[in-house]
Amino acid sequence: MKEVFLLVRPWYGVNIHTDAQGEYGTVLHSNDVFPDLPLLYAATMLDQSDDYDVLYIDAYTNRILPDELLRRIKEASFDKIIVKTTAASIKSDIELIRQIKANDPDSYVMTAGHAAKDLKSWIDANTDIDEVIEEPLDKFIYRYVHGEDGTVNDLPTPDYSLVDYKRYTDDLGRVRLTVQASRGCPMNCAYCPYIRFYDKYEPRDVDHIMEDVRSLASLGAEVIQFRDQFFTCDRKKVRELCSRMIEENIKVSWICETKLDSLDEELIDIMKQAGLFMVCFGIESGDQTMMDSYNSNKGSLAKQQATVALLRSKGILTMAFYIIGFPEDTWDSVRDTYDYANKIASDIVAFNEYTLFPFERDEEFTPDVFFPFANATNVPVESNLTREEIRYVIDLFSAMYTADHDCLEKAYTFNHLISAQYKKTVALLAGCGNDLQKMSDAIRQMQR
Ligand code: SF4
Repeated sequence: MKEVFLLVRPWYGVNIHTDAQGEYGTVLHSNDVFPDLPLLYAATMLDQSDDYDVLYIDAYTNRILPDELLRRIKEASFDKIIVKTTAASIKSDIELIRQIKANDPDSYVMTAGHAAKDLKSWIDANTDIDEVIEEPLDKFIYRYVHGEDGTVNDLPTPDYSLVDYKRYTDDLGRVRLTVQASRGCPMNCAYCPYIRFYDKYEPRDVDHIMEDVRSLASLGAEVIQFRDQFFTCDRKKVRELCSRMIEENIKVSWICETKLDSLDEELIDIMKQAGLFMVCFGIESGDQTMMDSYNSNKGSLAKQQATVALLRSKGILTMAFYIIGFPEDTWDSVRDTYDYANKIASDIVAFNEYTLFPFERDEEFTPDVFFPFANATNVPVESNLTREEIRYVIDLFSAMYTADHDCLEKAYTFNHLISAQYKKTVALLAGCGNDLQKMSDAIRQMQR
């Protein structure tokens, strides 16, 4: 008899990029729906095994609300269930699991995700959850299935046919699937959540990546997003990958995230020829002294400006990430960051709130450390700016940048309207507390 796993990614009416931020997840103020790659790797390995079977419910793909999800779980026949959690949804995730256990006290329930790992002591002491998986889920499942440790290179090509993958769309409605050519990062920025969960840089061979790309292209992916934290870390490998994509005439547009100072014209040209259409990169702050104190070196302003200009001259979209609200930030320093962003002049910017995650801290935390459905934590830290001030700056800068670099109308649509919708949804969820039925009814009502 095969052991059957039920893998579940719940959805609560707010889109969360669940494998972002080192699997804490990032709440999106947009209509993008991302897959969860580690969860999909886990499902693929179980499905391909002779000893295990898998049922996979990704509630994001068909907007399955918590009450309906609980009903489906109740009707399913399985041996073990794994619920993928995020920081922003952890309280609802724990309530969902409480109800799964109430419906079936004998069910064996496990959780995965970085937030669950941080809360393991609290979860063990205060819930009926049987097991907290404290590592990336694909690593855990690889060992479970193969009886030994595996690396990113040992993972199979993710089998997107296990889910309704055409629902993974970007904000323009294009089918966007994700894959990885490596995981982790050899840099060591003090604020980075990725390197706390993916404890070392693990590359994937070009042969494997080519298999992945072919598979995603054959499914009709309009966009492939490489989820590597530092895609061009191994420049030689990226050159080889691009050459092979060009030789095989694989026609797919792709996005990567990388460090700007690892790019030069020769590399950009071959990446563009292979289908690259957008590069995302972290700049974080305009205050280099502060960045040094976080051991973060993203290159000089001159190099950053030149590389962004080069990318844009070749028709490649550029997206820069900035962090607002470092504890040391002041009104003046955040203004400097905005001015710096203007000098970098990327096509798109994302001003994100500084988040002090609980990793590597001695205190024991409760779920209250994570704000529901927000990219923020409650870890005690002395900051010059309050959270309200930081939120104000982020909203203001986001709109200002779009208005200055695009147009006022776009700022109204993308920054104001979408953000207003997100805030409305979060306020609605806040009014439901942990009542999943009330939450489901409220979201249903809102969707009408
Ligand atoms: S370069 Fe990026 S991915 Fe690497 S440690 Fe720094 S923030 Fe993290």
